[in-house]
Amino acid sequence: MKLWGIDLGGTKIEGVILDSETKEVLYRERIPTEGAKGYPHVLNQVQKLVNILQDTSGLSPEKIGIGTPGSTDPSSGLLKNCNSVHLNGQPVHADLQKILGIPVNMANDANCFALAETQMGCVPDTAPDAQVVFGVIMGSGVGGGLVVNGQIINGANGIGGEWGHNFLHKSGGPCYCGKTGCVETVIAGPHLERYYYEQSGKKLGLADIIQNRSSDPVAEQTYNRLIQYYGQAISTIINMIDPDVIVIGGGVGNIDALYTEGLESVKRHIFNTECHTKILKPKLGDSAGVFGAAYL
Ligand SMILES: [Zn+2]
Repeated sequence: MKLWGIDLGGTKIEGVILDSETKEVLYRERIPTEGAKGYPHVLNQVQKLVNILQDTSGLSPEKIGIGTPGSTDPSSGLLKNCNSVHLNGQPVHADLQKILGIPVNMANDANCFALAETQMGCVPDTAPDAQVVFGVIMGSGVGGGLVVNGQIINGANGIGGEWGHNFLHKSGGPCYCGKTGCVETVIAGPHLERYYYEQSGKKLGLADIIQNRSSDPVAEQTYNRLIQYYGQAISTIINMIDPDVIVIGGGVGNIDALYTEGLESVKRHIFNTECHTKILKPKLGDSAGVFGAAYL
């Protein structure tokens, strides 16, 4: 079977046709989103990309999976919690089905990440028997997605997996979501950089902060803050869902120490004496969004 997927991002729209048996990428294209030209233009760009894929492949989709930032509210059908502002409050799902004339399955990008790693990323390589997979995104924000038996769990509110806006510690301060001390405000990259700046008066990127920690006491303090709160935040996922696998994606997720000292910190905080959860590095990189969309 051929799987069609579209990753609708803030700056680019990417499309792929996958072979579901061989997991081979048959065709792949990307075009700019041009969100500044408005919502109807973004819809037209999606249609344009589907047309390009049809022309180059000679194939036609019977249905299509589309990954977006934010999530579709199950009761209103409108997109919400989306950092691409031109999509918020719009009936993106219904409009895309109308414009493309085929059934569309939509999910947010963190869910697509979790699904892609489950179907064709690190999970089949390392934990092929896993039934419950939690995909974590730790980058400029913190998000996640839950996959059970190969299916995304969207939830009654369409916010399944959104652990980034659980309360973690008041020192994180106000969050864009309107609450205070969310996981995101403590361990997302920009917030760790802000913490370092507040303590040191110096502006430094997170990678440099981590690298400087042996010679810079504030960098060491920032690193310890990440390790401690990473363990605490991940332990809430394990205590609640106890997944077989957690995949750690996003820029902050690239920090190797999360798999050593970070893992020890997780073990200190979970409600068990041992931790059998496989905590894995993702395999698919930036491609996870569009591959996950195809698997919708
Ligand atoms: Zn929040």
